[in-house]
Amino acid sequence: MSDAPLPYAKAASTAYDAALEVIASVEPRIAEATRQELADQRASLKLIASENYASPAVLLTMGTWFSDKYAEGTVGHRFYAACQNVDTVEALAAEHARELFGAPYAYAQPHSGIDANLVAFWSILAHRIEAPALAEKGMKNVNELTDEDWEGLRREMGDQRLLGMSLDAGGHLTHGFRPNISGKMFHQQQYGTDPETGLLDYDAVAAKAREFKPLVLVAGYSAYPRRVNFAKMREIADEVGATLMVDMAHFAGLVAGKVFTGDEDPVPHAHVVTTTTHKSLRGPRGGLVLAQEEFASSVDRGCPMVLGGPLSHVMAAKAVALAEARQDGFRTYAQAIADNAKSLADGLMSRGAKLVTDGTDNHLVLLDVSGFGLTGRQAETALLEAGVVTNRNSVPADPNGAWYTSGIRLGTPALTTRGFGGTEFDEVADMIVDVLSQTQPGTTKAGGPSKASYVTADGVADRTHARIDELLDKHPLYPGLDLA
Ligand code: PLP
Repeated sequence: MSDAPLPYAKAASTAYDAALEVIASVEPRIAEATRQELADQRASLKLIASENYASPAVLLTMGTWFSDKYAEGTVGHRFYAACQNVDTVEALAAEHARELFGAPYAYAQPHSGIDANLVAFWSILAHRIEAPALAEKGMKNVNELTDEDWEGLRREMGDQRLLGMSLDAGGHLTHGFRPNISGKMFHQQQYGTDPETGLLDYDAVAAKAREFKPLVLVAGYSAYPRRVNFAKMREIADEVGATLMVDMAHFAGLVAGKVFTGDEDPVPHAHVVTTTTHKSLRGPRGGLVLAQEEFASSVDRGCPMVLGGPLSHVMAAKAVALAEARQDGFRTYAQAIADNAKSLADGLMSRGAKLVTDGTDNHLVLLDVSGFGLTGRQAETALLEAGVVTNRNSVPADPNGAWYTSGIRLGTPALTTRGFGGTEFDEVADMIVDVLSQTQPGTTKAGGPSKASYVTADGVADRTHARIDELLDKHPLYPGLDLA
């Protein structure tokens, strides 16, 4: 998070030059696309809240022969031979995760956030439903069950309930959304946010939990611009006998960097915590599960329960990224993510824009673009044309649904990695308001109002590109990394 050259920039430049030469000798078009992707990322104002820039150390770790190894099982207990180095890698990733987050137990195998959530769901079912049923029969393993026993247990496991945050309030697809497997494997209900303030209403969540009596209460979000009180969520879970699962995929970097502490740190309060490693945590694409000790042996069964062979090269990169997050500088980075989100929110609001919850105290801002007379889709495309990369997102009770939407989600982790501070984010706010206020909805071919097409006033995209180039030139991506 600085504009100074990376300490290993020269070695990384040599490594990438060599790697691209090797790739080009087999498939030059892939080498060219890889070069182009770096150029495009360097030239783009990335405000996608779920993206970041992993360090070259993390990226290089993924390109090794660990990719070739099968290692189903757990550390020291593999179903394949010759896994001693994978054991080292997985044990280190788990150790760094435990130390970084203060978690009793960590599981580094999930390939992604969705996989981590699947591991968590099945671990909770295994711990809360399967294990007691087996114990009652004096058995240890499901393989000991008769077909008839198994039918009954399967029915019981399939009859459980999950309560999670709704998609339009900021929850994720895997938090019980019907089209997702989480909404099919569980009976599901969703909690939303207060219609007036857009804030989580803990009393309403508690009332819903008392009525619905879920086995799993899911907290965490993809598009909610505020912190959550996980101590309160745990109280609610305890009162109704639910297991509290927190999906911190989006804000894991703020937990790691000690911006979220006390009641806002999910790790001491939740039974099971899941995360991705590639968003604010700034690691490789992947997932992680943290758990209280009582859930450890169930989570350990992630493979073969829902996972196949782990991606050993990615576990190695998780270990490197987690080691980076344990360095002092990461706390400064995490605090800057939150400070920058506040600067962006203040900059937008002071220029008349409407934000869901009237602000932010995490890493993201949810801009309601209906005030500009636009749908999220029109705003997203108009901004992209001007060089500002965002993604459209529903706002609570969105009249435009999940496809067109009425919102734009903006996140600060990526540009904070490039060294942007409050002044730069204020300028970003100015550019966004400039583009959106100079954009009008277009019409359909039949002449009616369109939710997709738009017209931006002449010259706006060009002047925005020029401003972006100037900002990005001052904050290069991977400073010192120069490819031949
Ligand atoms: N959980 C949350 C809260 C997310 O926002 C996301 C992705 O955006 C995921 C899980 C899924 O992560 P992945 O794309 O790695 O499967």
